[in-house]
Amino acid sequence: MPYQLPQLKYAYDALEPYIDAKTMETHHGKHHKAYVDKFNAALEGHPDLQAQKGEHVIASIDKVPESIRSAVRNNGGGAVNHAFFWDVMAPNAGGEPAGRIGEAIRKEFGSFGAFREKFSDAAATQFGSGWAWLVVGKDGRLEVMKTSNQDSPLSLGKKPLLALDVWEHAYYLKYQNRRPEYIEAFYHVIDWGRVEEIFSS
Ligand code: MN
Repeated sequence: MPYQLPQLKYAYDALEPYIDAKTMETHHGKHHKAYVDKFNAALEGHPDLQAQKGEHVIASIDKVPESIRSAVRNNGGGAVNHAFFWDVMAPNAGGEPAGRIGEAIRKEFGSFGAFREKFSDAAATQFGSGWAWLVVGKDGRLEVMKTSNQDSPLSLGKKPLLALDVWEHAYYLKYQNRRPEYIEAFYHVIDWGRVEEIFSS
């Protein structure tokens, strides 16, 4: 069973005006699809890896044969990172997180505002293409981090809770070079209920 392009839980225009329909359509239907197709191509002839979940392959990237490791890291990373990104966004979302995740964020960062500042800074200062993340580290504590290209915190033994794609393809059509505006808009579409579920799982 090859890795599949996941369906979105919402329509392409559902995150308007924060993330525009054209960007969503291109990002999911073209960019994400290309990662999925290339990930499957890289895994051809490797039934042991094909049988695993994409997230597991990326978490164990060091065990992937060297001949396909870069292709898997880039395209498998792209496949699972985007699937995760779509999943933690929703229409009529955003605001301050409640529940256990809200509590954990306030405990680790002092306040939601302080977390937000740290996360925005990671997203804004990722040089070139990459991602900003909220993760649970190996010590069980929340961390904000960034990764380059399609690298995943999974490969570092960390559990992603929230992700923001800061590749230009994620925002250029609507925001051009104004990445900070795109980062601010993201806070309106974070599905904290879903983040809570992931945190508790
Ligand atoms: Mn992307």
